[in-house]
Amino acid sequence: MHVLERAQFDTLLEALQQHGRQVIGPVRRDGVIGYEPVRSAGDLPVGWADEQEAGRYRLHHKDHGRLFDYTAGFHTWKRYLYPPTAVLWQASRDNGRLSFETPSETPPKFALLGVRACELHAIAIQDKVFLDGAHPDPAYAVRRNNAFIIAVNCGRAGGTCFCASMETGPRAQGGYDLALTEVAEDGRHYFTVEAGTKKGERLLDELELREAIEAERAAAAAAVEAAANQMGRQMPVDGLRELLAANPESPRWEAVAKRCLCCANCTMACPTCFCSTVHDSAAMTGETAKRERVWDSCFTMEFSYVHGGSVRKDASSRYRQWMTHKLSSWHDQFGSSGCVGCGRCITWCPVGIDITEEAWLLQEAHGGPTRTGE
Ligand code: SF4
Ligand code: SF4
Repeated sequence: MHVLERAQFDTLLEALQQHGRQVIGPVRRDGVIGYEPVRSAGDLPVGWADEQEAGRYRLHHKDHGRLFDYTAGFHTWKRYLYPPTAVLWQASRDNGRLSFETPSETPPKFALLGVRACELHAIAIQDKVFLDGAHPDPAYAVRRNNAFIIAVNCGRAGGTCFCASMETGPRAQGGYDLALTEVAEDGRHYFTVEAGTKKGERLLDELELREAIEAERAAAAAAVEAAANQMGRQMPVDGLRELLAANPESPRWEAVAKRCLCCANCTMACPTCFCSTVHDSAAMTGETAKRERVWDSCFTMEFSYVHGGSVRKDASSRYRQWMTHKLSSWHDQFGSSGCVGCGRCITWCPVGIDITEEAWLLQEAHGGPTRTGE
């Protein structure tokens, strides 16, 4: 483990840029911390921390000068690895001849800065979907294989976080090139740095950082431990997979449907949701046309449209589909939960529907564990 002083932080960003990488990291914009291009530490949300609850997100400025005191915001890294829109093919007409082409995009070589432990798990889940199946997605593969990932262990948990109960955080357990832990106490501000890959080791060698002393290692471990004990939510995972599979007719689905607007915010904000549809469009002149892949959601009426009608006509069947897939049938399909406990779907639901609360209510309605432990 090495130490990067706060005053040296720009040397890390400069090294990444010298390697031709576009650094994407946390940026404060429009009252939210999202993931956007950054060039120097001054672009990061210095001193900004979020407050999150069901249907609520606020930023507050503090004097501590920390760079990574926020928790997961609305953006996810899938925005860069699996963009919201992608042209699949385009066609043009020239002198009566039609020609088709697949756009050959050369995306930037990204350095993703500030990837949280839950988000590393989400990227691993999307890798399974887009890389490990019978038909790997070439656009995802090029972006993913060229990405350099700098994880930042959480030193604070948000009000809607529950990664500890999903065993996906708050400490990064793998899937990164470098992992940082921010420590700002007793008049010092530094990061401990660990390499997770050869690529990471090579960059660490270039930075010529010194080894961490025992007190610095202990301070970093204590920071992550504190986050683990601050989780705002807990998912009652025991028996949940089987409970969901066994209860497609639970009265809980109607109860949640009375509040659900089917707005799809939860699926857009979720770092593991991967559904898409295709849109065809043509220029008014008839000279050009294109087919695009765009993110879609199981909460839209069109998503389950087959042969003249939607299979999931009401909110109860759509919420049931989403929650049962995330926490139950995802295990059958991909060998893990589809939820990493980031809490985004809770914060960004306009009516504050909370997947952990719904899981507890389901457990309680069907004889599972209760929050009081009775
Ligand atoms: S279901 Fe909600 S908490 Fe789980 S990964 Fe998706 S957005 Fe995060
Ligand atoms: S659960 Fe909330 S965010 Fe998701 S579709 Fe329903 S209202 Fe929208």
